[in-house]
Amino acid sequence: MRASVVATIGLGANLGDAPATVRAAFAAIAALAQTDLLRTSSLYRSAPVDSSGPDYVNAVVQVRTTLSAPALLAQLQTIEAAAGRERPYRNAPRTLDLDVLLYGDAHMDSPTLTIPHPRMQQRAFVLLPLAEIAPQLVSAQAMAAVQDQVVQRTE
Ligand code: AMP
Repeated sequence: MRASVVATIGLGANLGDAPATVRAAFAAIAALAQTDLLRTSSLYRSAPVDSSGPDYVNAVVQVRTTLSAPALLAQLQTIEAAAGRERPYRNAPRTLDLDVLLYGDAHMDSPTLTIPHPRMQQRAFVLLPLAEIAPQLVSAQAMAAVQDQVVQRTE
């Protein structure tokens, strides 16, 4: 049997009742097979980056899972689909976006999966909630580099 790995998942929503969508996603992730939810961050609000529409609600969670990284991504995409996500155009506003940020200390780069997530270090809406639940994963330099981005912790 595959050894378990701590994976870090980023959540974002900016359509409909975004806080409710993110909380429902916490529950859906907690219910995944072969996966235990370890930690959930607070919810944060941020203005859209490379996207449009209302403010985003963001959060980060950590899970312990025996799913492979591609299998985990497939499960997250099922949760996205269940949240009614549509992709009318690139970077359109979305009901729910789930990203695999980290998968243990693995590095991978395939057409469908790049880990660590290539843009996580540039995004305060990832680094702030990540620093809340796993401060050892966020360097002071990384935080300094995103300090001009406005992200508010909400609850
Ligand atoms: P997006 O529309 O931003 O959610 O991008 C989704 C696409 O990014 C999917 O087709 C995934 O295969 C791909 N992708 C690559 N790396 C990752 C990752 N680390 N987490 C989530 N999606 C990823």
